[in-house]
Amino acid sequence: MSKRVLVVGAGFAGAVYARTLADAGYVVQVIDQRDHIAGNAYDFVDENGVRRHKYGPHLFHTSNERVFDWVRKFGEWVPYEHRVRARLREELFVPLPINIETVNSVFNKDLQSEEAMQSFLKGVSEPISAPSNAAEFLYANIGLELTNLFFRPYTKKMWSMDLEQMSADVVKRIPLRFDAEDRYFPNDKYQILPRDGYTSIFENILNHVNINVDLRVRFDSSMEDEYDHVFNSMPIDEYFECQFGELPYRSIKFHHSSQSARAHQAWATTNYTDHGPLTRGTHWHLLPHHLVKDTGKYTYTEEEPCDYRENSMERYYPVKTADGRFDSIYQLYKARAVENTKITFIGRCGTYQYLDMHQVINQSLMGAEAWIAGRGPAEI
Ligand code: UDP
Repeated sequence: MSKRVLVVGAGFAGAVYARTLADAGYVVQVIDQRDHIAGNAYDFVDENGVRRHKYGPHLFHTSNERVFDWVRKFGEWVPYEHRVRARLREELFVPLPINIETVNSVFNKDLQSEEAMQSFLKGVSEPISAPSNAAEFLYANIGLELTNLFFRPYTKKMWSMDLEQMSADVVKRIPLRFDAEDRYFPNDKYQILPRDGYTSIFENILNHVNINVDLRVRFDSSMEDEYDHVFNSMPIDEYFECQFGELPYRSIKFHHSSQSARAHQAWATTNYTDHGPLTRGTHWHLLPHHLVKDTGKYTYTEEEPCDYRENSMERYYPVKTADGRFDSIYQLYKARAVENTKITFIGRCGTYQYLDMHQVINQSLMGAEAWIAGRGPAEI
C-alpha cells in the first residue's frame, strides 16, 4: 500500500493531521511557505524578553475533553483565564463581554441581581424574533445604545462593514452575561496557555520519526503526483486560481511599542470602542510565562484590521456576511474539490471557516481518523 502523504501548512490543522497520520504509520511530508511552523499560533520571545504571538493573541479555550487531553500530550499548559476591558474613554474601562458591571457603568445604574439585569435589558432591547443579521441580533438582546457603543464602530473597523451586513454568528462569539462574570470565555471548561509557548507545542507535535518538515516551500499542484494523498490548508480559492471569484479575508497590521512602566491591571487586552483605526491592545507580560526575561521594557501590541490585500495577502479572518455570499462561492470550490479524491482541504483557509484553535484541532483529529479508517492504517 502506498503510504506517503503531503500536508500543506504547519498550523494547527496541518500539524494535527500530520501527527495523527504519522502515528498510524504514514510517512508524512509537511511543507509551509512561511519560515516557521505553528501557523498563526506562532510565538517567540522578542527583544524585550517578552513572549509575543506574532499573529495576535491566541487564547486557548475548550470544553472538549478529547482536545484538552490531546494538546497536553505535547507540553505543559498552565491555567489562564482571559479578561478583556473595553476602553470607553480615556479613564473608563468596562468589562467585556457586557455584564452587570458594564451596564451599571454605562447607564450609571446600581443593578444588583441577574433578574434586575435581565429586566433592564428586556426594557432596552427590541422585539425582533428572528434576527437576520448582527445588528438585529444585538438589538434583540442588548438594545440600540449598547450595540452602538460596543459593537458598531468596532465591527466597522474590524470588517469594513456595517453590523447590518454581517452574519449574527460573528457577534454571537461574544457571550452576554447577566451576572458579574468577566472572563472572555466563561462558557469553556478549560482555559489554558502553553507554558513554553505554542511554537514549542508544535515542535513536539511534529517531532516524529515519520514526519519531515520543510519550510519556505510553496505548494505546487505537480506535487500531488508524488503522494498518495494531500491534506491542504492553503486557501481553496487560490488552489483553483479563483475561477469562481475571490474569498475575502480580513487581516491585521500589528503595531508594537515598548513601555517602560509595567502594567498591573487585571486584564491583558483592551478593546477600543471608538472610531479610530485600532481595535485592541495587548500587554503580553500579563499572560503567564510571557515575561520570559524582565528587561524593564514591556511590549504592548495594538491591532489595526485591514483587507488581506493590504497586508501581503496574510489571511486571518474569513468574511461572514449576513447574506452568506462568500459562503456560496466557497460551496462552488468545495464541489470542485470533492471531484479530486487525492486532495482534502483542511483548516480555516482550506474550508473558509471562522474557527478557533480547539475547533480546528477537533475537526482535524476527526478528519484524519476518518480518512485512516477509510484507507486502513499503513503498515508500521
Ligand atoms: N466585537 C465588537 N466589539 C468588541 C469585541 C467584538 O464589535 O469589543 C465584534 C466584532 O465584530 C468582532 C466579533 O465581535 O469581529 C468577534 O469578536 P472576537 O473577540 O471573538 O474576535 P477575535 O478574537 O476572533 O478577533
